[in-house]
Amino acid sequence: MSLLFTKRPDRFDYQASRTCRNCESVFQGKFCPRCGEKVVESYERSVRYFADDLLNALTSLDGKFITSLKMLLTNPGRMSADIVAGKRVPYMRMVSLFFVANFFYFLFPIFEAFNTSFNSQYSVQPYSSMIRPWVDARLAATGTSIEAYAETFNQQSSSNAKLLLVFIVFVFSWVLYLINWKRKEYYADHLTLSFEFMSFTIFFPTLLMSTLLLVALKLAALVGLDWSRLFYDEIISPVILLFILYFFVRAQVTFYGASWLKAGLRSLLMFLGFAATMVAFRFALFLVTYWMA
Ligand SMILES: [Zn+2]
Repeated sequence: MSLLFTKRPDRFDYQASRTCRNCESVFQGKFCPRCGEKVVESYERSVRYFADDLLNALTSLDGKFITSLKMLLTNPGRMSADIVAGKRVPYMRMVSLFFVANFFYFLFPIFEAFNTSFNSQYSVQPYSSMIRPWVDARLAATGTSIEAYAETFNQQSSSNAKLLLVFIVFVFSWVLYLINWKRKEYYADHLTLSFEFMSFTIFFPTLLMSTLLLVALKLAALVGLDWSRLFYDEIISPVILLFILYFFVRAQVTFYGASWLKAGLRSLLMFLGFAATMVAFRFALFLVTYWMA
């Protein structure tokens, strides 16, 4: 979809024979049937077209992006089902959608839902007792205080967490594969759904809902209510979990073709698998950060 050229009469000569500029096969129409190269028309080389293209690229207000976002929220699993079945044109490429989500999360980390603080790494994770001696040894060797180390660690961890989100996608795709291996022919089908799931999780519960809740918090503060203390643990986390559960149940029905009952049961398995994935992610995040900090 174009922002500046919304209605332009199609004067393209579909009958003329053309030689593809890329692969040199001879064809008729706008696209080379062999390699997919598009015939560039003279208006597409105008400054106006260039500006339009740039505007599209900058705002991402591309029709496919909006269609994909809507589908992501209203019908989880549909986009992956369509893509796997070969209906790809209406949507943005799944990997691109994920990187756009990642990009927004990078720019607006309102709540760093995927980051883990040094204190949490050191004390409350299932692997904390294993890594504590490593940290203690390093502190002793360098003569650093634990508070100073925690500060450096947290700064490094915050940027690492954003770069490592794709790790969750790959690990979780294996969880999906293990739970649903009979229902899809190819591993990559599960990987597609895993990309859809992470895009969903970043766009909706993480970015959109946390922004709305933050606005609610500010409004509450205006009338003298202080909700900030219970904000993260009692509001944001349950909201994220509910969104995730919604995605799992819908995706089981739409993508894996399960009945509602089986979808409910398998969603719980997926939930446990996701929890395990997050432990693996935090451990990887610790290793990378420990190595860098
Ligand atoms: Zn060609």
